[in-house]
Amino acid sequence: MTRFASIISGRRTKWAVVAAWIVLVAILAGPGGKLADETNDQTEGFLPAGAESTRVLNLLGDLQVEHGLTYLFISHDLNVVQHMSDRIIVMYLGVIAEVGNAEEVFRDPRHPYTEALLAANPSMHEDDARIRLQGSVPDPSSPPEGCRFHTRCPVAVAACGWDVSDVLRVLEERGRALEGLRGVERRTPVEGTLAFETEDEAASVVAELLGDRAPAPMRAAAEVIEARGRDVHVRFPAVEEMSVHAVGHGHHTACILHADDAGPASP
Ligand code: SF4
Repeated sequence: MTRFASIISGRRTKWAVVAAWIVLVAILAGPGGKLADETNDQTEGFLPAGAESTRVLNLLGDLQVEHGLTYLFISHDLNVVQHMSDRIIVMYLGVIAEVGNAEEVFRDPRHPYTEALLAANPSMHEDDARIRLQGSVPDPSSPPEGCRFHTRCPVAVAACGWDVSDVLRVLEERGRALEGLRGVERRTPVEGTLAFETEDEAASVVAELLGDRAPAPMRAAAEVIEARGRDVHVRFPAVEEMSVHAVGHGHHTACILHADDAGPASP
């Protein structure tokens, strides 16, 4: 603790105190005890930037070795994750996207979200052939059907799970005026009716949804996209929520693109 106190200065008190508690609780928990660290995100003020941050992390690493501790780190900082972790769980909208040994996940990610996270870190990927995420994060209280990542996945396919909300999102993203939309009836998440003021508006929306500017996987997935008078009917096949499957020893992903990859056991 004396070593720890020696690097505390002024405004660093907050993270220093939190880190001290982490170590204390971890030691009290004993070897094999789990430690939940809410966040070490620098933007939330826990860790300082630069050398001091590295010193704190190295100190935590030293204590881990000395006392046989197990840390559970939750972080958006991939450099910290890579520095600290033996095993990684990548989560998106509250579910597991990928899990595996740290070295393997960083070297050979098997989920597009993991790839996008790694590609977004310039210290890990310097080329311009990055996976770039589309759109914004959906409401976690009403997650998308099928793969929760499909609304932002640049390599999504028809089988990834499409729903009525995708139709509305696509129309909005294409700048399609929806003033004429009187209401949306969702009979299920994957089947519904968009009611418009006029038949022309309904026909125009169908043309938009079936046109080249709409996502090809969504068009391929649709069982019904058609105008009936002033209504637009849409229906997609129901898809189970993606669950993780093995793609290697201790390596699992929830991406359907790797469904045929060989792998033993469940996590
Ligand atoms: S299952 Fe894979 S390809 Fe499909 S949306 Fe999810 S991450 Fe993308």
